[in-house]
Amino acid sequence: MLKYPKPLEDLIEDFSKLPSVGKKSAERFALFIYTKLNEESTREFSKHLIEVKENIHICKKCGNICEDELCSICKDTTRNHKQILVVETVKDLYTIENVNEYQGIYHVLNGAISISKGIGTADLNIDSLVELVKTEELEEIILATNATLEGEITARYIKELLQNYPVKVTRIAHGLPVGGEMSYADEMTLLKAMEGRREY
Ligand SMILES: [Zn+2]
Repeated sequence: MLKYPKPLEDLIEDFSKLPSVGKKSAERFALFIYTKLNEESTREFSKHLIEVKENIHICKKCGNICEDELCSICKDTTRNHKQILVVETVKDLYTIENVNEYQGIYHVLNGAISISKGIGTADLNIDSLVELVKTEELEEIILATNATLEGEITARYIKELLQNYPVKVTRIAHGLPVGGEMSYADEMTLLKAMEGRREY
């Protein structure tokens, strides 16, 4: 089989590592960069790749991603800091935030308990949530993990951890289809899920 020159083969291999990118697309991307992108754009492109890894940090309060110590949501004093919405991923946070209705703050777990994937409670950002409940006077913890088996197990686990503290724990209603992931839900479904949350 005829191979491209090594730098191009390397780039094709890099693109192949991305989700949903097959060998053919990877080949198309790499050839596009070589034939169509000028040097300046190419430098910018590679600079952005490095910057994403070097300049983005985890917000030390909520687990969101940001360029500073705290994310813009945690820094925003106009939001209700006594209401915390717990999500599995940063992507879920963005999905809810972009609906533009929720005024509280967030807590990102960084996944969900999963026996099949070998993800346990120690792998998740749960301790800092419990710490927050212990040390701050909070009104409500809204569990917005996915409507999957993993999401339900995780929500139940957190609920049990928090049951002896004086904070209301609610679970968003799942008009989301069973097995449904937050980031695929449309705006209306998310709004309904938020409005219909119940004490858990
Ligand atoms: Zn934050």
